[in-house]
Formats: sequence, C-alpha cells, structure tokens
Amino acid sequence: LVARMRPFGTTIFTEMSALAARTGAVNLGQGFPDTDGPAEMLAAAAEALAGGANQYPPLAGIPVLRSAIAAHEQRFWGLTRDPDGEVAVTAGATEAIAAAILALCEPGDEVVCFEPYYDSYAASITLAGAVRRPVTLRPGPEGRYEFDPDELRGAFGPRTRLVLLNSPHNPTGKVFTPAELELVAGLCREHDVFAVTDEVYEHLVFPDAAAPHVPLATLPGMLERTLRISSAGKTFSCTGWKVGWATGPARLVSAMLRVKQFLTFVNGAPLQPAVAVALNLPDSYFTDFTAGLRDRRDRLVAGLSDAGLAVLPSEGTYFVTADIRPLGGEDGIEFCRALPGRSGVVAVPTQVFYDHREAGRHLIRFAFCKRPEVIDEAVRRLKG
Ligand code: PMP
Ligand code: GLN
Repeated sequence: LVARMRPFGTTIFTEMSALAARTGAVNLGQGFPDTDGPAEMLAAAAEALAGGANQYPPLAGIPVLRSAIAAHEQRFWGLTRDPDGEVAVTAGATEAIAAAILALCEPGDEVVCFEPYYDSYAASITLAGAVRRPVTLRPGPEGRYEFDPDELRGAFGPRTRLVLLNSPHNPTGKVFTPAELELVAGLCREHDVFAVTDEVYEHLVFPDAAAPHVPLATLPGMLERTLRISSAGKTFSCTGWKVGWATGPARLVSAMLRVKQFLTFVNGAPLQPAVAVALNLPDSYFTDFTAGLRDRRDRLVAGLSDAGLAVLPSEGTYFVTADIRPLGGEDGIEFCRALPGRSGVVAVPTQVFYDHREAGRHLIRFAFCKRPEVIDEAVRRLKG
C-alpha cells in the first residue's frame, strides 16, 4: 500500500457493522435504512432490469435522469440547470466527491472543510495529494454545533483551492444557517476559490432546525463556483444503489467527468430510470419521509436521554450525537467497542472523523433511520 494511504485503516462503518453482525447487537452505527424506498422506484428498477437497460449508459447519465435531477433542483431550490452539460450522474455521492477533488486540486493545494467530516473526504483529499484544513465544529452553550468564524478565516490562505461543505451535516446533524453559509460564501468570493457541497441529506431537515436547508450555490456569487453533489441513497432509502450526481457550471461538471470516466466510467444503468421516477415524486413523498424520520429521531433521543446519555440536538440527517461522560465514559472508541458486549447496541465514535481528535473524544453517533421497533429494542437494551 502506498505510504499516503497507510494511515487509513478499515473504515469505522465496516468495523462497527462487522461487530454488530458478530455479536448480534442492534446496529445503530452505519447509516442505512432498514426499510425499502418508494414502491414506484423499486417497480421502475425491476422493469428496467427486465426491459434490457443493462448495458453502459452515457457517461453523464441517461437523459431522463439528468432531466429529473434538473427539475428536482428547480422545484426545491430554484436552481436552473441545463441537463445537457450542467448535470452528471455518478457512482454515489462518494465518487462525485472524489472525482471533484481529483479534478480540481493540484498536489499541495488546500481544501477547507469542517471536522468532524465524512470519512471519504480525508481519503479523497489525500489521494489528490492535497492538504485538508479542517475547521472544528464544537457544541455551543445550547449544544448546537458551532464554529469560530476566526478559525474559518484562518483556514483560508494562498494555497486554498476549494471549500468542501456538508450540510445537513454528518455526523453531527447540524444544518448550517444562512448566516454561517454567508461566512463561508464570503471567504470563497474573497479568496476566489471553488466550493464543493455535499448535500446528500438535503431533504432530511426537521421543522425544529434553526434554519431550513439552503444550498450554498444559491448565495450571491456562488453559483458559478460551486459543484453541488447529492445522491439517491438517503432520500430514497437505497444506499446500496450508489446513484449520485453533481450539478454546477459546465466547466466544473466536465472537469469532474474527465476524472469520473476513469474511476468507474459509468454506473447503475437499470437504477438510473428508477431514480428519475423517485426524483419526480410529488412533494408529499419528501415531506412524509422527513416527518417519519423526525418521529424516529424523537423516539431515539428520548430513549438515549433516559439511558443517561447527554444527547446533542440533531436538526437533520439520519444521525444524532451524544456525550458519553454522564455514563462515565471518556473515550468514544473504547466505549463503542465495549457497547455491544455491555448493552447489545452498536454506535459509532465520532472522534475518527476529526484531525483534532480531542474535540470529539467523548462523542458518539447513533443512526435513527431504523424501524421504530428496532429503535425501541436498542433503547430497552441501553437502559437494561
Ligand atoms: N456524504 C455524506 C455526508 C454521507 O453521509 C454519505 C453516505 N454515508 C455520502 C456522502 C455517500 O453517499 P453515497 O452512498 O451516495 O456515495
Ligand atoms: N454514510 C453512512 C454513514 O455515515 C455510511 C457510509 C459508509 O459506510 N461508507 O454511516
């Protein structure tokens, strides 16, 4: 293995899901739903499979899906995209993120991101030979994760090439407010750098969030410098399909595609028409899905609090974080490795998503994208 990849072990998701399988623990670690997505989407995939959509699709994705992606962005975010040139389908958001960074960063370029970060960010930045400049999110007085604007300003410099922003944010459940986004946008404009936004949880924002989701690309001066990335996995409960996309100005989308064509070339032929069907579902699908998830968040948050954890607010995503110190825990990794044996539940330590690990040492993450009875069973065990 090349030296630069040696610090990256097996991902925490693989480790913790294997632990759950081995011990029979309730898996609230890796974020994947335990129910299927919309029936119309599943039927469309079966039909496409049987109907011969089994060969290489076009590099940028089938036209029907690119049009659906553009229509979805118009409907929900008021963004106008040309499906021919400003939209590209990828093998999940993960590939879009990797391809974007590989396409935009020279070795030594710097990428500003927030920690904790989704684990593929560090690996993709490293693969590109670029350097990450993480800005730490810390729970503020009311528990909401915040950052220090001066720390953000200080992360920008002459080598900054792009900002990689994930909102709604995994693993914290934070939704960046318009004021926070404006700070990021202002620095992007001032330093004339690109933004790559990971918006895979764009629809998963709860009504009690400090603000609704706002794509960074909609802020002044940002459309022309932002590549917006999302995915079908979270919104349509099909994380194993790995159908994602990137939208943005044609020069950024074509740069990303130049790399993507040599990573996977294309992906998901029979799934692409099905994702198009899902993206075109009426507004009620999206609101009902979020409402159902909110109930499950509330159920888990109440249970975790009863079990003695200090639960931090989750405004969106599939996740909620908690402080283990009230239970006598100090190190999240040790705590999560022992939890299946002690309580029969799997969670994920979030310190592995920080460069400054101290900041997340006592924090762990639970996924609530599970059936209510599964959440109840986990809570029963934790309280046991
Ligand atoms: N970004 C974030 C923040 C995520 O949580 C995930 C899914 N775990 C991804 C990207 C990857 O999405 P996909 O499965 O579509 O590659
Ligand atoms: N995104 C999911 C999570 O954060 C899992 C992704 C993965 O396993 N790589 O839990």
